[in-house]
Amino acid sequence: MSVTVIGLGPMGHAMAAAYLDKGYDVTVWNRTAGKADGLLARGARLAPSVAAALTANELVVVSLTGYDAVHAVLEQAPEALAGRTVANLTSDTPERARTTAAWVAGHGGVQITGGVQTPPPGIGTPDVATYYSGPAEAVEAHRPALEALTGIDYLGEDPGLAALYYQIGIDMFWTGLAGYLHGQAVAQAYGVSAREFQEQAVKSLDLSYFVRFYAPRIDAGEHQGDMENLAMAEASLEHVARTAEAAGVDGAIPRAILETVRRGIAAGHGQESLTRLTGVLTGR
Ligand code: NDP
Repeated sequence: MSVTVIGLGPMGHAMAAAYLDKGYDVTVWNRTAGKADGLLARGARLAPSVAAALTANELVVVSLTGYDAVHAVLEQAPEALAGRTVANLTSDTPERARTTAAWVAGHGGVQITGGVQTPPPGIGTPDVATYYSGPAEAVEAHRPALEALTGIDYLGEDPGLAALYYQIGIDMFWTGLAGYLHGQAVAQAYGVSAREFQEQAVKSLDLSYFVRFYAPRIDAGEHQGDMENLAMAEASLEHVARTAEAAGVDGAIPRAILETVRRGIAAGHGQESLTRLTGVLTGR
């Protein structure tokens, strides 16, 4: 029931707070020490150095902006990694997750890579999960402490896997959210409030039907345009961009998709499904 949390941005702070809520003995370290004040008032201990943070507990949860920050911090005391399990819940590429896991192992520690699938308010609540990969025995050894934060989606031994799944999901999140914000800008420009459109937005953003319909076809390489096709998408995206631009809204986001659709049409796929765009994007 004791843990170290390194990194007190919104996510690391929520994690340290969740541990305190559950009665853990919590040691924290952050580059900007003042961010620990509220946690210290609730009983957390502030480590005076990275070395002290690492030696305080066997399990060290790391939540920083990216792996450059992870190295900027952990390289202050690499010798203190020996015997530690670093639950690295920091976002970065799969390759960086692998090389850092090897670096940690080279100093006698173990990295579990994590990709958190909730914003900070979800930490410590049921029904949210984190992708994990890395040594299964390390995940099992620390299961109760990891589950104090979120559920566990364990993907396998490759330390890059959790980062990969996280990046695929967050790719969809950013592009999907950009679509929501763009649509909302159009709504605003035409005098429709965000609250007024709220429930329509929820319906428009629910792509579950398409995801389940498309996934087997993408895997099978079947792109028949029996439901929609790229030629229709070109016309539709022009309407979307023109509606935005007519009200002075930047049309760059729908036009970026339009450009990709046009590449597919130019390659001879105008009568094929939107799923053909996966091949246009990979160049296959
Ligand atoms: P940030 O990504 O902004 O991380 C802030 C933390 O990183 C702070 O502790 C900051 O220290 C530290 N940091 C950044 N650069 C350095 C550096 N060079 N040296 C030392 N420390 C550094 O905020 P979050 O807390 O939101 O995110 C943490 C991780 O969680 C990220 O990888 C993010 O992608 C991921 N994540 C976040 C979600 C969210 O909704 N917020 C959701 C899912 C994942 P200081 O306080 O001193 O600036």
